[in-house]
Amino acid sequence: MSSMYFTEEHQMFRQSLKNFLQKEVVPHIEKWEKTGEIESFIWKKFGEMGYLGIAYPEQYGGLNLDLFYTVILLEELQKINSGGFAASIWAHCYLAMTYLNKEGSHEIKKQYLAPSISGKKIGCLCITEPFAGSDVAGMRTTAVKKDDTYIINGSKTFITNGFYCDYMVVAAKTSPELGNKGISIFVVDKDTPGISASKLNKLGWRASNTAEIAFDNVTVPASNLMGKLNKGFSHIMQHFALERLVMGVNAHARAEFALDYVLKYMAERKTFGKYLDKYQALRHKFSDMYSFMEICKEYNYTVANRMNKGEYVVKEATISKLQSTKMADEVVYGCLQFLGGYGYMEDYPMARLFRDSRLGPIGGGTSEILREIIAKMIIDKKDYKPTT
Ligand SMILES: Cc1cc2nc3c(=O)[nH]c(=O)nc-3n(C[C@H](O)[C@H](O)[C@H](O)COP(=O)(O)OP(=O)(O)OC[C@H]3O[C@@H](n4cnc5c(N)ncnc54)[C@H](O)[C@@H]3O)c2cc1C
Repeated sequence: MSSMYFTEEHQMFRQSLKNFLQKEVVPHIEKWEKTGEIESFIWKKFGEMGYLGIAYPEQYGGLNLDLFYTVILLEELQKINSGGFAASIWAHCYLAMTYLNKEGSHEIKKQYLAPSISGKKIGCLCITEPFAGSDVAGMRTTAVKKDDTYIINGSKTFITNGFYCDYMVVAAKTSPELGNKGISIFVVDKDTPGISASKLNKLGWRASNTAEIAFDNVTVPASNLMGKLNKGFSHIMQHFALERLVMGVNAHARAEFALDYVLKYMAERKTFGKYLDKYQALRHKFSDMYSFMEICKEYNYTVANRMNKGEYVVKEATISKLQSTKMADEVVYGCLQFLGGYGYMEDYPMARLFRDSRLGPIGGGTSEILREIIAKMIIDKKDYKPTT
């Protein structure tokens, strides 16, 4: 069924990406997982290969390829088993850069998008705040216009790439009295005076850096406003569709990696004189997990196909993230159990996978919030429209 979406060119791209990851990334993963810092040379290598610009216009150095190339990039990143490394790459490419591409002016694209594609500048997306996570509209960070500048004050938290980055895409209130209709988006250089970032210590995604960021009278040119003034909430909601599909695809790929691993493990590990893959209890559990993964994968491809055609698939992308991250959590949990005590050991891949997978139902909209969005669309007949 997958061949419906993947051409021979896609498959060639997948193979060369796999080779690249094995040669250039895998030898460094253990170190980056320990230090929590990805060395900068790898961004340049990704840039040289064109991987950071797959989805972006040729005018700025991108490859302008269809969404299934992005799906392949996301899947293969999961299959080298560092949720943190993968997150650093996709947060740069599909969180920060999405705004530059969709809302940035030509000048902003030249200044930020082009070097993001070449791997010379790394970005992050700053929406979450200490007192406003799920409740995006409750954000308190402000951007006040003064002459031809905006002055930003406030704080953000849990920002992927927020410690080691060159620029930030920041949501702030330009008209706080208007609630969610008073939010705007800015691009801000990380070294602007008044910005301070501290690194957070976390359960998983260890190769990525996650930061708390304070903005103290940070002055940016008014031309750093992206999209329309006070339309930031609509832009955020709009881009959540892609972000959620990205997280759905990540989840099915992570689960597939876990299942592939245990399949080999079960064929090699004997107890009571029999290989694990001969025990009915385990065979049936495996079959259930495999089926759930396949259902999510094929669903995600369908959603990707519709998004690729330009459809606004907000409901479908929400379902994709909700169900795929639930599935991945269950599959990874189940696969760890198949390894017995070895599953708990850091020398085996399941321990890291288990830690990393847990973020799926939390980041980019928790499962509880996603259920509420689906309920609003189905029960209350709310219609989320694309931004005009
Ligand atoms: C490692 C990591 C990386 C991240 N990267 C980024 C990033 O790059 N950029 C960014 O902006 N953010 C990022 N986030 C933030 C992430 O999106 C938020 O953590 C998430 O949206 C939840 O917000 P919160 O943590 O404030 O939880 P809260 O909003 O405080 O929610 C707490 C709990 O209450 C539940 N809850 C809240 N409201 C309701 C409700 N109305 N009904 C039912 N249940 C509810 C939630 O589901 C959750 O279980 C990251 C987070 C982590 C942990």
